Amino acid sequence: MEFPILGTEPLAVELANTLYGDGEDFLRTRAWVDEWFAQVGQPAVDAARARALRDSTHRLFTAAVEGATPDRVDVEVVNGFTTPTRLELDWSADGPVARHRDSATGGAAVLARIAACAIELLVGPDALRRCTAPGCSMFFVRDHPRRRWCNPSCGHRDRQARYYRRRRRQEVSP
Ligand SMILES: [Zn+2]
Repeated sequence: MEFPILGTEPLAVELANTLYGDGEDFLRTRAWVDEWFAQVGQPAVDAARARALRDSTHRLFTAAVEGATPDRVDVEVVNGFTTPTRLELDWSADGPVARHRDSATGGAAVLARIAACAIELLVGPDALRRCTAPGCSMFFVRDHPRRRWCNPSCGHRDRQARYYRRRRRQEVSP
């Protein structure tokens, strides 16, 4: 199965991108959910819960890139996925290390981490963007100020489309 996975983005962004284009749902079956989580290197999760978190994250990210205020329900849904984490000290021969221990385990812990990641992206520096290439709607975190596309091939397609639009305009004008 070929999923719209960029491979460079935080997991919350990759999850939101499973709702692609005009709403094509790459998590629409249980088998696809299992395969998607395996491809991003995570343990299996509850499919219905994964879709619920994905749908709300997608709407919150959309609101963020459009500068809109989202439905309160989506905020509550994402909050419902986070779980308390405890800070613990570990001390080995290499010295002291701090660890965040999640109160959830397995699939629930994965979804909790994705929800926390989504929250951090929404309140963090203004870097969440949506690809501007024709037909693409993927979210990405802008890692340099001029980046407008989710990946280089979208950048190429977008530049090409602009070029042809300009040429057509020149051809029709006298
Ligand atoms: Zn794109």
